[in-house]
Amino acid sequence: MTDFSRTRTLFHIPEGVIYLDGNSLGPLPIAAKQRVANMLTAEWGEQLIKGWNSAGWFMQPRVTGDRIGRLIGAPAGTVVMGDTLSIKVHQALASALELNPGRKVVLSDSGNFPSDLYIAQGLLKSLDKGHELKIVEPEEVEAAIDDGVAVLMLTEVDYRTGRLHDMKALTAKAHAAGALTVWDLAHSAGALPVDLAGAEADFAVGCTYKYLNGGPGGPAFIYVAPKHLETARPVLSGWLGHEAPFAFDLDYRPGGGIDRMRCGTPPVIGLAALDAALDAWDGVDMADVRRQSIALCDLFIREVEARCPDLVLNTPRDGSRRGSQVSFRHPEGYAIMQALIACGVIGDFRAPDAIRFGFTPLYISEKEVLGAVDILADIMANRLWDRAEFKRKAAVT
Ligand SMILES: *Cc1c(COP(=O)(O)O)cnc(C)c1O
Repeated sequence: MTDFSRTRTLFHIPEGVIYLDGNSLGPLPIAAKQRVANMLTAEWGEQLIKGWNSAGWFMQPRVTGDRIGRLIGAPAGTVVMGDTLSIKVHQALASALELNPGRKVVLSDSGNFPSDLYIAQGLLKSLDKGHELKIVEPEEVEAAIDDGVAVLMLTEVDYRTGRLHDMKALTAKAHAAGALTVWDLAHSAGALPVDLAGAEADFAVGCTYKYLNGGPGGPAFIYVAPKHLETARPVLSGWLGHEAPFAFDLDYRPGGGIDRMRCGTPPVIGLAALDAALDAWDGVDMADVRRQSIALCDLFIREVEARCPDLVLNTPRDGSRRGSQVSFRHPEGYAIMQALIACGVIGDFRAPDAIRFGFTPLYISEKEVLGAVDILADIMANRLWDRAEFKRKAAVT
């Protein structure tokens, strides 16, 4: 049984804050302070360029990739770190399309995160081969998988509603129709059990600054199924994905296995913070995380519905059909969230009208959930959100 009172001590949460936004930016793992300081002073400071070898910087994207692989059901040697998630979406989708050259449709859904859709649009335009991005409603994805689909590209957990796709069933259906799959795990990795190998997913990508607590701008990851590792062409063919980067050949040859998905110089400082953040998962059973996350979300939904009748649930009620977040709709959602933040309850707002809360058992318990609902109920009952200062939109919502 995972000891969540122990994991809670591993994170810095500012005094007086109830942090329900770990689905957007995880809090600071206390160990990251020392790890990053050490990287800066003892490694960069003292070892200088020797650190690429002597401090293991060069191999860090692989080492960290394997650590993340253990959290998402990926065998060793199938995950590597680097770049941002948007870039990894491009890389995975481009490689998958090349592996299915006869087909022209990329199928996705309207619940996908816009960046994934924008990246697909940009890629298809530059390919200029008559591909089409088909976007259907989330409930219609299964029926839309047919023999024209080259790649099914989905985010497993909907960023706005928290609705969870059935990765295994949709992947099986895609394969039966001759399509490949690209799964975005942005709201899955660290939030719920993921079994990429068991689901036979072809490609997967994700970021590390949400439920994995790797820090703002932390490096993303990419997974390639073993069966594609030696055939997928890394479309972003940078020098560190080359078979022999330090031979400095003029022609590109992909490296062996997942190394080919590396692109340029890895973000070593960010990897140090992430490596420290991943220590928090040692001794954590993802089945316990799932059970507790569902319980916390259920409690929040029950209490909010009982005490805030004007808020409309925007998330599946059935815990097995959602990720680790809950959202409610209200026309004044933005102002309500600003009022909450002013009272120390931090969630976020997603246009047009959703207030969103992430539930992260590593550092959130029933006590914080009930405390947040007390404040939310007060804000709603007394219209505390109805002030001009809460209605001015900031750049990041
Ligand atoms: C958070 C998120 C992103 C963000 O991509 P970045 O390149 O890290 O800014 C992309 N896709 C999904 C599904 C996300 O949830």
